[in-house]
This record gives sequence, structure tokens and C-alpha cells, in this order.
Amino acid sequence: MVLKKTAIFATGLIAGALIIFAYLFKPYTAPAAIGSEVSDADINTLISRLTLANYKGTIKGLTTFGDRRQGTKRNEDAVGWIEAQLKSYGCSDVERLDFVNSDTAPQPKFPLSLEELNPSGGTATGGVIGRNGSGPGGASQFGYSAPTDKEQDPMSQSNEALRALNMEPSSFGARQEIYCTKIGTTHPDEMYIIGAHMDGIGWGEAVNDDASGTALVMELARIFSAPDVQTERSIRFILFNNEEAGLLGSIAYAKQRYLLQGKEEPAGSGKYPEPKWLGMIQHDMMLFDHGAPKADGSINKNQRAEADVNIEFQSKSKLAKESRELAFLFKDANDKFATDYPANVGPHMINTDSRVFQDFVPSISLRENERGAHIGAGWDPHWHQHTDMFINFTDDDFRLGLNAGQTTLSALSQLTGLTVKLSSKKNK
Ligand SMILES: [Zn+2]
Repeated sequence: MVLKKTAIFATGLIAGALIIFAYLFKPYTAPAAIGSEVSDADINTLISRLTLANYKGTIKGLTTFGDRRQGTKRNEDAVGWIEAQLKSYGCSDVERLDFVNSDTAPQPKFPLSLEELNPSGGTATGGVIGRNGSGPGGASQFGYSAPTDKEQDPMSQSNEALRALNMEPSSFGARQEIYCTKIGTTHPDEMYIIGAHMDGIGWGEAVNDDASGTALVMELARIFSAPDVQTERSIRFILFNNEEAGLLGSIAYAKQRYLLQGKEEPAGSGKYPEPKWLGMIQHDMMLFDHGAPKADGSINKNQRAEADVNIEFQSKSKLAKESRELAFLFKDANDKFATDYPANVGPHMINTDSRVFQDFVPSISLRENERGAHIGAGWDPHWHQHTDMFINFTDDDFRLGLNAGQTTLSALSQLTGLTVKLSSKKNK
């Protein structure tokens, strides 16, 4: 028993040391510029294929599996459905990655900032001099806050069919998650990773957290897989599992795949099972930006006029400078190509799968609001609640997610060297 535990612990240590070793000896190097200019017309062509109807339809498809809580049949069924969808889009090399959520082996942990806000306030909103970055991710929370407790009661769901669908509790055990790849024409050995998490909680439909990000990634996989779309670099589309309760899917991916980066397998085949990571872009909670809570904790019924896509990097990460550059490149792409909502950049990325990658590769998250300063202060009343359901969002909400999709689509087109033309020939 003792020996076995020691062996498990030692294996973990060796795996950890390998990653650290690899990191020390393979520091991140910025990618070379791609050869050709990307035309605005080609990007606009792709954006025109990202429709509100398709985006909503994919979100609606995910609601068939209730809240998709990790460790349940409804979660496994959702993984299977996503896999079938990606295959139907023609996305290359659809793969399953296995991992375990175990109650015995120690789970890897990352330090998360869970400190309280400054306790004693001097103004009506709790104001004291200097908020001091005491919110999640080093954010400062200003203004009134509303509760952010997770829903604990499955009976809170009044829709009986949905309540029945969500009734099975989570259990420890095997997990799977799905990814597929757009293979680059001239740089198949390099890729950007585009992610979201397909699991949810709360006994609703987990529409905003995170069918909204999952559908965005699936839609981009569909659009980039069209026969007339070529990119010079590769793109990986991944739907992480078990993000809720520990980021376990993204940790498993990083641990299992880090050392495979850039290796041709088999030698001479021109195939790269894990192209070198150039950037990681996460999408988590894309729809709801109704503004700050009022003094009584209530929140506007409508998307606020100033709603925006919030792009965050982590200023305390090892690659803060490169991640900041990536974040502003996404903001520029939004300025140029998005239809309805602007984007803004913040430095406190936290509490989602991109956090796992931030010290290895430039990493950003796109969200409805900043995680620490806004969502963490109760700006989203559906967060982890049974009310996170399709019927509780309007087209103005869904369109914010769509604009985040336009942002990633256009930035990614520039970064990977997009061309749109019907041709079976490889570029140069
Ligand atoms: Zn989430």
C-alpha cells in the first residue's frame, strides 16, 4: 500500500520533472512570420459563413445533454455527439484523449487567488483606497457585487424533463475529450490551439458556461474544414472535459502532449501528431454582458449598450509579454472584422483552461466579461445556476458570442495564413 502510493507519487514527480526539464531546455521562441499576405476579402468570406443561426443551432444541440456534468452518462453522450459533429464537418484526425478523475491519486493543483476583497469599505460600494488586485487573477473589483454561489440543489430546476436528465450525480473515473486539427499546407508542424470546455454544472443546460464557447470552437472547426479553405499553419480545435472541478482535461492534455510537440511521426511521413504550440486561445462564457449589479443586487434585463468581448492574458505568467501581444492582435482583429461588439484587453486571465498553458505558450481567454473583476463580482446571475438555459438568453446575448467567434476567426486567419480558393494543390 505504502509502496504503491510511493510509486504513484514518484511517477507524478518524474512526469512533472520531465515537463520542467523540457521547458528549461526548450524555451518558447516566437514563430517566424508567415510567407504570404492574408487578404481581408478571404477573412470576410469566412466571417460570412459564421452565422447566428448556425451558432445558436450548435448551442441548442449541446443542450440536449443537460448540464453535461463531468462523470455522468450525459457528459459521455455529449462527447460522442461532439465527435460525430466534428467528423461530419470534415475536420482532420478527430481524436479522443483519455484521462481519469480519481478520488485516490492526488490531483495536480494550481495556485488560485481566492483571497477576500478588502474587508471594510468606506463608501457605499465597499470602496477603500486601492483595491490592490485582491480579486481572482489579481483583478480589482469595483462597484456593487452580487452573490456567486454555485447551485447545490438539483431540485431547483423546475423543468421536470431537464431535472430528470440532470439527476445522475457525478462519479470518479475515466474521462474523455475530443480534438481535431486543420492541417497546415506549408507549416503542418506548427499550430494554434483553440479551446473551450464542454462540461458544465448547475442543473440547467450550461448554455453560457460553456456551450457558448464549445459551439464557437465547433463552428470554427466547421468553417476552417471547408474544402476551399487553406491555412499555412495548423489549427487544433479542442473541447476540454472536466474543466469544472479542477481544469483536469486541460492539465491531462498538456501533460500527455507537451513533449510530443513538433515531432514528425512516423519519420519522413510529413505528419505531426502534435504540432509545436504557438498560442492557446480559450473561450469560456461568451454571452452575457448586462453590466454591474445595482445596489440591491439586481441586474439589467438587456445586454448593455457598452457590451464587449473581454480578452485577457495573465500579467504574472512567464510569457506575459508574448501573451499581451497576442491579446492586442485579437483586439485589432476585432476592430477590423467584428460586426456588433468591440473587444477590450485585460491582464488577469484566470480560472479557465488557458491558465494551464500560460507558462509554456502565449495564452489568452475570450469571455463576456473579465473573470476576476466582473464575473467574480456577480455580474452574471446565471453562472453555475439552473437558469443557465437557452430560453434565458436573447439574440443580443448570442450575438456577443458570435462576435467573439468573429474575433478569433479573423485573428486566427492572419496568424495561420488563410487563403480561400477551391484547389486540391498544396500552396508552394
Ligand atoms: Zn466555464
